[in-house]
Amino acid sequence: MTLRVGVFSAKSYDESIFTSLSQHDDISLRFLPMALDAQTAQLCSEYDAVCVFVNDNISKPVIEALHQCGVKHIALRCAGFNNIDMQAATHYGIAVSRVPAYGPEAVAEHAIALMLTLNRKIHKAYNRVKEGNFELSGLMGFTLHNKTAGIIGTGRIGAATARILSGFGCQVLCYDPYPDEALKEAGVNYVTLDTLLEASHIVSLHCPLSEDTYHLINRETIAKMRDGVMLINTSRGGLVDTSAVIQGLKNRKIGYLGLDVYEMESELFFKDHSEQIIDDDVFERLATFHNVIITGHQGFFTQEALSQIAATTLENLRDFNKGKPDPSRFLSG
Ligand code: NAD
Repeated sequence: MTLRVGVFSAKSYDESIFTSLSQHDDISLRFLPMALDAQTAQLCSEYDAVCVFVNDNISKPVIEALHQCGVKHIALRCAGFNNIDMQAATHYGIAVSRVPAYGPEAVAEHAIALMLTLNRKIHKAYNRVKEGNFELSGLMGFTLHNKTAGIIGTGRIGAATARILSGFGCQVLCYDPYPDEALKEAGVNYVTLDTLLEASHIVSLHCPLSEDTYHLINRETIAKMRDGVMLINTSRGGLVDTSAVIQGLKNRKIGYLGLDVYEMESELFFKDHSEQIIDDDVFERLATFHNVIITGHQGFFTQEALSQIAATTLENLRDFNKGKPDPSRFLSG
């Protein structure tokens, strides 16, 4: 029996990679540019499953509408699952799958790219040289070697980031309720969150967004950091209280900020707003700082990672169709 799947928030790159990997499958994929929400969920009666991405908001009303339409499976084509009401999905017997790992180095390398760009001011140097300005004033960075880098959350991506930073000769401090023994053996030190915040020149966030970690970076935690700290967030926007961070930038506590994620990103990211007025004043204020770099949730966006995401998502769809959901990739069902 052919499995009919509505692929929401689909981009041309999703379509080409999923299509190339599913040619011989009994899976019929319909690529839809719109997000899955309470309205679009009502139009899902022609699908057995839906496939969604990071900013599709799978709240209880969306799940109720999917249930009404007979949808049996929500396949997340991402690792994080903070955007889904798992209680509602379990209540309505809808299976939820995700892609727990797809090359954590892709995101780790992006975190490092933000660190190096901010530190050595590559964004400014690029523009200067383009305009024939070879002046170095204002471009001075610091040597990473021997600096202290703090990693919050040492799962797959945090561990990959810690390994790269160790290679740079940084002293790596980590905080995670579940320390990674292999990382410890590789020479990183697990410390309390307070010690990490107080000692680190660079703080990089790699824990998931949950009730416990919401606004983990706030006025109090920022106050504990070193003056001029570099803060990097490639995990989820909700980990950071954006107005506290703006205050930290204004009073020079935060010396550098690199973001690949933003609390209110669902209104902005993955779309071209270049000919519109952006209404989000908080985002616009952030973008004015010379020592802030924001990328639009592209940490995952490498050829290798995208292929892995598509391959695992298709495997999840096939496994569910055969009645064999793999517990390591299914959150329910
Ligand atoms: P993971 O599940 O392998 O690791 C998460 C780690 O965080 C675990 O070791 C866990 O113990 C730890 N943790 C949980 N609560 C914590 C807390 N309060 N303080 C410190 N650590 C805590 O996940 P991962 O694959 O490494 O991904 C990490 C996050 O990166 C995801 O949750 C997702 O939000 C984000 N992500 C972003 C992108 C991107 O494109 N920017 C891509 C993939 C994932």
